[in-house]
Amino acid sequence: MCLEFDVIIVGGGMVGASLARALSDCGLRIAVVESWLLDSDRQPSYDDRAVALAYGTRLILEGMGLWSAISTDVEPIRQIHVSDRGHFGFTRLHHESLNVEALGYVATGHDLGKNLLQGLGDLPNVALFCPATLVDFDVSEESVQVKVTQAETELALRGRLLVAADGSRSMVRERLSIGVREWEYGQSAVISNLTPGELPRGTAFERFTESGPMAMLPLNKGRYGLIWTVEEADLAEVMAWDEREFLLQVQQRFGYRLGRFQRAGRRSSYPLSLVRAKAHIRSRVALIGNAAHAVHPITGQGFNLGIRDAAVLAEVLVDADRDGRDLGALETLNLYLDWRRRDQQAVALMTDSLVRLFTNPLPPIRVARDIGMLALDLASPAKRFLTRQFMGINGRLPRLARGLSLVR
Ligand SMILES: Cc1cc2nc3c(=O)[nH]c(=O)nc-3n(C[C@H](O)[C@H](O)[C@H](O)COP(=O)(O)OP(=O)(O)OC[C@H]3O[C@@H](n4cnc5c(N)ncnc54)[C@H](O)[C@@H]3O)c2cc1C
Repeated sequence: MCLEFDVIIVGGGMVGASLARALSDCGLRIAVVESWLLDSDRQPSYDDRAVALAYGTRLILEGMGLWSAISTDVEPIRQIHVSDRGHFGFTRLHHESLNVEALGYVATGHDLGKNLLQGLGDLPNVALFCPATLVDFDVSEESVQVKVTQAETELALRGRLLVAADGSRSMVRERLSIGVREWEYGQSAVISNLTPGELPRGTAFERFTESGPMAMLPLNKGRYGLIWTVEEADLAEVMAWDEREFLLQVQQRFGYRLGRFQRAGRRSSYPLSLVRAKAHIRSRVALIGNAAHAVHPITGQGFNLGIRDAAVLAEVLVDADRDGRDLGALETLNLYLDWRRRDQQAVALMTDSLVRLFTNPLPPIRVARDIGMLALDLASPAKRFLTRQFMGINGRLPRLARGLSLVR
C-alpha cells in the first residue's frame, strides 16, 4: 500500500519542521520523515546549542503562530558588540538605530525543538513518521515514490514533491548526484552554556581572537551561550580541560565584559565547513536549509537562512496549488530558486569573509580590519545595511514575514 501526500519532507530538524508548520493549514497533505526523537542524544538539530534568531525569523515564526510559545524561553539581543582581541577596532550594532524592540533573540535548540517538532503529527494535515528513516526514493514524471523504514517496517509514500531538509550530509542530495562546493575550515565549534558574573543585559558579543572567533549569546536563566571556534589541532586539548581550566581560558580570551564566569555546562564540538550544493532543485525535488547550504556558525545565520528558505518555498507551493500548477514542476521550483539565490549568496559570502578576515594574522590585514570596524562604527548606511542583513530583513520578504496569511 502506498500512502499519498502532496509534499514529503525528509528531515524534521529546525528547517524541515518549520516548513511543515508553515504548510500545516494550507490544505496540502504533508508527510515529515525524521530519524531521531526530540530527546535523543543523536538528534542533530535540537541540542543545547544557543541559536540566535534574527528579527526576521521572529516575524516568520509569528506568521506561523509559533512566536508566543517560543518567546517565553528566549532572551532578546538589543545590541551586538564586535571586537578584535588586543586591537583597537570595534563596532556596535544597536536595536534603536532601526526602531525595533530587538535585533534578534536567542533560544536553545532544544527549546526550539519543543515548539517545532513536538506535536507536529497532531496537526490536521501533517503525518509525522518519527523515528523513521528515508532509505530510498524514485522520481518519475508524475510523482516521487519514497521508501521509509519505521520500527523495522518498510513504508511506501508517494508525493508530488520531495523536500530534502536532511542536513549538510543530505542523502537525497547525494542520491541525485548533486555535487557540493565545500570548504573545510580545519576548525571546530566548541559550545557550552556559561553562567557569567554579571547578568545578561541584552548584548551579544562577537570577539575575534588569535585562537579563533568567539560568539557569546545572552540566554534565558541568566546564562550566556558560548560558541568558540578552535583550530582542529587544539580541539582535543580544549575538550579535555576541566571546568576550571576551561573557564580560565575563555576568560583570558573574552575578557571581563560579563564579569567573572562562574560555571560552564556540558561541552560539545562540531567540525566546521562551508557547504553549498551546486543545484538546489531537480524535477520534483527541492533542497532547503543545511542540505542546500551550511555556513560557519560564527554569525548565527544557518537556521535564519533555512527558515527563510522554508517560508519562501511554502509561499511558492501554496500559490502554485491555488493556481492549479504542479507543485513539483521545474517551473514552480524555479520561482523558489530565483527568490532565494541572492540572500543565500550574501550570507555565505559575509560569513566566509568574516571568518577569513579575522583569522588572517598578517599585520596589514589586521590594521585594515580594525580601521574597517571603526569606520563601520561611524558610517551609518553601511552599518544599517549590515544590521538589516543580520536581522534577516534585507530584500523581498515572504508573506509570513509581513504578517500576511499564506493562503490568499
Ligand atoms: C555550534 C552551532 C551553533 C549554531 N548557532 C546558530 C545560530 O546562532 N543561529 C542560526 O541561525 N543557526 C545556527 N547554527 C546553524 C543551525 O543549527 C543549522 O543551520 C540548522 O540546525 C540546520 O537545520 P536543518 O534542519 O537544515 O538541518 P539539521 O539540523 O542537520 O537537521 C536535519 C534533520 O534531518 C534528519 N535526517 C537526516 N537524514 C535523514 C533520513 N535519511 N531520514 C530521516 N531523517 C533524516 C536528521 O535526523 C535531522 O533531524 C549553529 C550551528 C552550530 C553547529
